[in-house]
Amino acid sequence: MKDPNCIFCKIANGEIPSRTLYEDEKFRVILDLGPATKGHALVLPKEHFADIYEIPADLAAGAFEIGQQMAVRMRERLHTDGANLVQNNGEAAGQTVSHFHLHVIPRYKGDGQHILWKPGKASDQELDAVAETLR
Ligand code: AMP
Ligand code: ZN
Repeated sequence: MKDPNCIFCKIANGEIPSRTLYEDEKFRVILDLGPATKGHALVLPKEHFADIYEIPADLAAGAFEIGQQMAVRMRERLHTDGANLVQNNGEAAGQTVSHFHLHVIPRYKGDGQHILWKPGKASDQELDAVAETLR
């Protein structure tokens, strides 16, 4: 399944050229054109699913497996100090391209990047209530 208006469908299926780092039947891994750090890559399924709510669980798991392999390769070849695997869903979460993708962001000591959130505050009651809702 492809979406004719989706740029990541076109990239994942080779209709638009990309700097491909890895490819198999189901996935293509490309370099992000706006890298947070050197080597920032995106794992793209070749089939179109907008986000984590649409993608089948086995494909989501497969994307993470490839993300792990890429992180290991980056550590070996780019001598990274760490990695963030980030996956945004929905505009509220910062997703800008509506085709599921997993960011593999290599990290280097002192690279100046921040992939963080501000720790918040919640009362025991609030924590209890949300835990109950999600159980
Ligand atoms: P997100 O904000 O999680 O949706 O991430 C979208 C990512 O796609 C950003 O990091 C962009 O830099 C990247 N991006 C957008 N268009 C392209 C493209 N044509 N080739 C490679 N990366 C892209
Ligand atoms: Zn797509």
